[in-house]
Amino acid sequence: MSVVVLRMGHRPERDKRVTTHAALVARAFGADGMLLSSEDKSIENTVNDVTERFGGPFFIETDVSWRKTLTEWKGVVVHLTMYGMPLDDTMKKITREVPLLVVIGAEKVPREVYERADHNIAVGNQPHSEIAALAMFLDRYQNGKALERKFDGAMRIIPSERGKEMVDVREGSSTIPSRKRCLALLRERKCPDNVIAHAEVVEHLAIAMAERLGANVNLVSAGALLHDIGRSKTHGPGHAPMGAKIAKKEGLDPRIVRIIERHLGAGVDEEDRQQLGFPPGIYMPETLEEKIVAHADSLIDDRRCGELDAIVKRLESLGYEKAARRVEALHMELNKMIEGGLDTLCRKIIGEQSS
Ligand code: SAM
Repeated sequence: MSVVVLRMGHRPERDKRVTTHAALVARAFGADGMLLSSEDKSIENTVNDVTERFGGPFFIETDVSWRKTLTEWKGVVVHLTMYGMPLDDTMKKITREVPLLVVIGAEKVPREVYERADHNIAVGNQPHSEIAALAMFLDRYQNGKALERKFDGAMRIIPSERGKEMVDVREGSSTIPSRKRCLALLRERKCPDNVIAHAEVVEHLAIAMAERLGANVNLVSAGALLHDIGRSKTHGPGHAPMGAKIAKKEGLDPRIVRIIERHLGAGVDEEDRQQLGFPPGIYMPETLEEKIVAHADSLIDDRRCGELDAIVKRLESLGYEKAARRVEALHMELNKMIEGGLDTLCRKIIGEQSS
């Protein structure tokens, strides 16, 4: 029987991470979808991206009316709250024969929800978190079998004692090279040591961004390490298309090829592409992973964390007015999605690394 989670009170400016995690827990622990009572396209994109890669079915819909959802729900409504009745006692009373709506809040949940819910359930009468409450509830609802859910996605994780192994079952082999393989490839291609050292710092920041933004961390890691592989041939702007060419020759995952191709500044538009004499193609970062690597590279000046103002001024002084505006826009786009902001993260991460 279907299970849908209704997430209430989501504040896009501060709850992105928690709400994304609630959606991912809902998906991983057997719910069919999540409704969000505020609009947030970035959460829809992140969750849909995970479902696309790792499998579903799982839907996410934002900007729904919680009142209308509660009124029109044809089935049981459960509200998780620390003020509710004990989980194990109430569990026995919930029928599995009709669809279930599980309501979770962010801060204060309106009184009306307590009234309309068939059951107000506490996962222990202590304040904690909607993510933990949801995980425990879904597992109990499925009699402890939530983790047995099978997913039909292309990407499968191979459980391992150490390390990270993932395969793309469509192609039957791992498509993202390990960190070790990326570094070996840079050396085989005779990338200068300073380029490799820069790539490792970019990778460090890019991974921190990817973790906070729910992006594909392995892809970001490989893309960041290899983004300057073209500098084994040229240090001019042509190193981006050159790097993509090398990556294609190496048979690397097309997503890595595109990260390399699209990493210059915050991208190169069609007009600039023609001026630079790049081969036809798209040189603007489009996916979250492409944007993360491009911007981490913009923020890292050699091996140090640069200030946005200085980066923009340098581009302007070189006459790259449009490129400066693009870097600013990408900074704003990513900055607002990262708690505490990008500059703080950059200083924290790069500071940590050099200490
Ligand atoms: N006053 C809230 C409450 O009613 O539980 C606590 C707010 S808490 C930051 C956000 C959400 O976490 C709540 O809306 C509820 O869904 C969930 N939550 C927190 N503690 C819980 C608990 N002990 N049992 C069930 N749900 C809980």
